[in-house]
Amino acid sequence: MADFSGKRALVLGVANKRSIAWAIAQQLAAGGARLAFTYQGERIEETVRELAGSVSGELVTECDVRSDDDIARVFAEAGETFGGELDILVHSVAFAAAEDLEGRFTDTPRERFWLALDISAYSLVACARAAEPLMEKAGGGSIVTMTYLGGERAVPHYNVMGVAKATLDSSVKYLAWDLGRKNIRVNAISAGPVRTLAARSIAGFTTMEDIVEERAPLRRHVSADDVGAAAAYLLSDAARNVTATTLYVDSGYHAMGM
Ligand code: NAD
Repeated sequence: MADFSGKRALVLGVANKRSIAWAIAQQLAAGGARLAFTYQGERIEETVRELAGSVSGELVTECDVRSDDDIARVFAEAGETFGGELDILVHSVAFAAAEDLEGRFTDTPRERFWLALDISAYSLVACARAAEPLMEKAGGGSIVTMTYLGGERAVPHYNVMGVAKATLDSSVKYLAWDLGRKNIRVNAISAGPVRTLAARSIAGFTTMEDIVEERAPLRRHVSADDVGAAAAYLLSDAARNVTATTLYVDSGYHAMGM
């Protein structure tokens, strides 16, 4: 297990106990990290507060990543909680309108196209920028975001979310270049299908799962815990010279041509 003792981590994207962000937070907690969490919307506040309480989370605060004010406030609060420093940022946030995950990509209207890219890709840029001074003060840091193969290949139904992931993937590389000189690493994990709240809004999600079982080299699904373990590696000092990369946790599916 990775050692995170004394490390200070901010986790965005816990909605419930199935969230990938929660699996990552549990790894960080097990390694001894100090944790801060954000949630989006009153509807999930109580759930996130309960989960955060179970790992002695020191801060639970609202953040809608569409809002620059929210992002500025959240990082100021995290700075206050952690003595002006931050070591780890987990970005596990995405959104596209349900109707855009079932019809044709061609029919995506302008405002919902930008909504998906704003929440699912630009938010990483805004959060990395806000984290930069706190991580610089800490002598460096590690940022992990969550992506999917649908950003590299056309996956039926993934549609505008695929375009958002392509933007996210590219942002990881440019952020890694900018922030590398401050010893801040930026990486992505490309996960195979995991049954979460967000995944449920993708039409044909069970077909995606069936195809992985049939065609991935390991012929089995991945769990949120598998993703959490991979994130723990990227966020730990064991990955100190790993940045600007994508780690696939998908039973090898990404390597297949058919
Ligand atoms: P989830 O629904 O548990 O998490 C998505 C999170 O995004 C939620 O916590 C939600 O509150 C947050 N969010 C949405 N809009 C927001 C906004 N405006 N401001 C702040 N937060 C907002 O689902 P998940 O599957 O754990 O998703 C986490 C990440 O993993 C996403 O980036 C998703 O695309 C990615 N991912 C998931 C899978 C999968 O199969 N579940 C596979 C690959 C990648």
